[in-house]
Amino acid sequence: HDSTAAIELTELGKTYGHGDTARVAVRSSTLSLPWGQVLGLLGPNGAGKTTLIKMICGLVTPTAGTVRIGGWDLATERSRAVLQIGAVLEGSRNVYWPLSAWENLLYFGRLKGLRTAETRPRAERLLRDLDLWGRRHEQVGSYSRGMQQKVAVATALITDPPILLLDEPTLGLDVESARTFKDWVAHLARDEHKTILLTTHQLHDVAQELSDRIAVIRDGEIIADLPTGELLKKYAEDRWEIRLA
Ligand code: ATP
Repeated sequence: HDSTAAIELTELGKTYGHGDTARVAVRSSTLSLPWGQVLGLLGPNGAGKTTLIKMICGLVTPTAGTVRIGGWDLATERSRAVLQIGAVLEGSRNVYWPLSAWENLLYFGRLKGLRTAETRPRAERLLRDLDLWGRRHEQVGSYSRGMQQKVAVATALITDPPILLLDEPTLGLDVESARTFKDWVAHLARDEHKTILLTTHQLHDVAQELSDRIAVIRDGEIIADLPTGELLKKYAEDRWEIRLA
């Protein structure tokens, strides 16, 4: 990659609705995430995390500002920009329950324009890495929540995009599933040099363990953006009154 940041947000904003019913979800947010880093986007429910992540993957159109992915402007060079992103959004188990994990991955590979011969070795690798290989031919509907979450992330990674967006990745997982999932995210960052943006409301768990940097969002505004160590220090010293869920 060149020196361009993986994700560059410039004065990004989103207001839902008009006039009396207008609701500002994100206001004038500026953020730059270098290639290979993990950024935790931390904030309480309703702070605007989901809206921000949806604007980055092109699902919500900003009402102000710009999103650049690897230097490509999402508004004007959309297909180049979105090709670099794999996203797993909160609550969206974007997988087909009647199909097996293996069939889901082949299906998503085809959907994203890969040839089957390209998809197969990638699917095998992902399923082995995720400990799903032994059960790859069972219906996803019969899996635990943690396993379904892994399949969802695997489908996002089938094209091997350099950037991964994860919205509340451990929400609703039991302790053990959350542990293996976090270990896997750490492996993607460390060994596969993925650039990862994840949202969470857990500072002393997901954000602290996985992130190089943490950005805090509150009432639609980014109120801090610091290396994780510094943020934790400041948080402890100043006892910031950040309501974290
Ligand atoms: P959560 O963790 O609950 O998902 P969040 O930090 O992701 O919260 P958002 O979902 O981005 O926050 O919501 C930010 C604000 O925008 C909230 O006040 C919400 O009610 C509002 N909002 C979100 N989506 C819409 C929409 N489609 N139409 C109108 N208002 C919306």
